[in-house]
Amino acid sequence: MTTPPPSQTRVPLMSLDDAMVSLLAHVGPLQSTEAVATFDADGRVLAQDLVSALQVPPNDNSSMDGYALRAADVTEAGKVLPVTQRIAAGHSGEPLEPGTCARIFTGAPMPAGADAVVMQEDTVEVGGNIHGVHIQAVPRPGQWVRRAGEDVTRGAVVLTRGERLSPASLGLAASLGLAHLNVVARPRVALFSTGDELVMPGEVAPEAMKPGAIYNSNRFFLRALLHRMGCEVSDLGIVPDQREATLAALKTAADHHDLILTSGGVSVGEEDHIKPAVQQLGRLDLWQIAMKPGKPFAYGTVKRDAGEACHFIGLPGNPVSSFVTFLLLVRPFLLRLQGVETVALKATMLPAHFTLSKADKRREFLRVRRNAAGGLDLFPNQSSGVLTSTVWGDGLVDNPAGKTIAHGDLVSFISFADLFA
Ligand code: AMP
Ligand code: MG
Repeated sequence: MTTPPPSQTRVPLMSLDDAMVSLLAHVGPLQSTEAVATFDADGRVLAQDLVSALQVPPNDNSSMDGYALRAADVTEAGKVLPVTQRIAAGHSGEPLEPGTCARIFTGAPMPAGADAVVMQEDTVEVGGNIHGVHIQAVPRPGQWVRRAGEDVTRGAVVLTRGERLSPASLGLAASLGLAHLNVVARPRVALFSTGDELVMPGEVAPEAMKPGAIYNSNRFFLRALLHRMGCEVSDLGIVPDQREATLAALKTAADHHDLILTSGGVSVGEEDHIKPAVQQLGRLDLWQIAMKPGKPFAYGTVKRDAGEACHFIGLPGNPVSSFVTFLLLVRPFLLRLQGVETVALKATMLPAHFTLSKADKRREFLRVRRNAAGGLDLFPNQSSGVLTSTVWGDGLVDNPAGKTIAHGDLVSFISFADLFA
C-alpha cells in the first residue's frame, strides 16, 4: 500500500462541538487587569466581584409626589390632616407627629414615624387657618414607599468576576458609588489576511482590477468584530502567499499579542502557506470541521522570543465561512480569554417559513431573516462566498446534519444581535 502525498491526505471531519471543546481547552483568562473609569467600561469583563459598601436606596423614600403619613391615622376616606413639613428629594425631614402629614416629593426620605404615602392625585388641599389636606383614599401601610436596601443590600455581591459589563451594569456599578472598575485587559490581537488575489479598496478602482483580483472583504468584518469583542487590534494587512512573508508576519505578531488571527490559506493546497509556517514556529492543528459554511479551521501556537507562546487561529478564506467561524468559535475563545465563563449561545426555536429539501451531510448554518409573521425566511443563495446573505440575514439557523426542513418546522435560530454583542 502506498501512502498518499501530504496534500492529498484526508483529514477526518471533526464535529463543531468537539472543535469547540478542544479550542476552549487551550485558553485561560488573561492575567493582566486594569482599572478603567466606569464611564469607559462598557463591554469590558470584570476582574473581581463587586461588593456593595452601602444599601440602595440608602433610606426609605417616597416613590410619588404626595403626602407622607401614618396609615393608622386615616381609616376612612375624607379625613383632613394638617401638613406640618415639606420634604423634597435630597433633604431630610423631622419625625412626623401622629395625626399630621408631610408634603413629600419623589425620592425624598420618609420622615420617621410615617409608613405610607398618599399620592397627590388622591388629595385635595384645604386652606384657612391650618394648612391641611383631605385624604381621599384610605392608605395601605407601605404604600408608595421604596424600602431602604430593596435594590441592593449592604455586602451583597452585585456583579461577579467574569461578567461582561453592559450599559445596565455600568448604571448599577455607579449606584454603588464606583467611579472605577477593575477589568481584564483587552486581548491584543494581530490580524492579517493571506492571498495574492486580494486588493484593498481604495488602492485599485473597480474598473482597473486585474482578472482574478478581488477586494479584501474579510479584513473589514473581522476587524470590526474584534473591536466589538473588546480587542485591541493590530491590523497587519495582507500577507502574500509566500513562505518567508508568512513566517515574518507570524514572528513579528507573536511577541506583542495574545492571539494571531488570519483568514485564508488554511486549506491544504500548495498556495496555503499558513500550515507549514505555523508548524515551523510552534505547533498547529488543522481541523476539518463538519460544518457548512466553514470547514477548514486551524488552531495552534507561535513561540515568542521570550519563550512562552501566542495563540494562533486560522480562519477559512471564503468570506461567509470566515464570518461564521469567527462567530461560532473565535467569539467564545475571545470571551474565555477575558475570563467569561458562560460562552454558550442562546438559541430560540422559531418556525421555518421556507423548505430545505436537500439535507447536507454537515451541520449547516443557514442565513435567515425573521419576518413580520414571526417566522424565518431563508436567503436564496447559501454559498460560502455570498456575503450579501450575511447582511440580508439577521441570524443563523443551526440545522443538524442530514436534516431537511419542511415549512412550519421549528428550527434553532441564533440572532446576529446576540453574536455581535
Ligand atoms: P483560501 O482559504 O485562501 O483558499 O481562500 C478561499 C476563497 O476565499 C478564495 O476564493 C479566496 O479568494 C477567498 N478569500 C480569501 N481571503 C479573502 C479575503 N480576505 N477577502 C475576500 N475573499 C477572500
Ligand atoms: Mg488563499
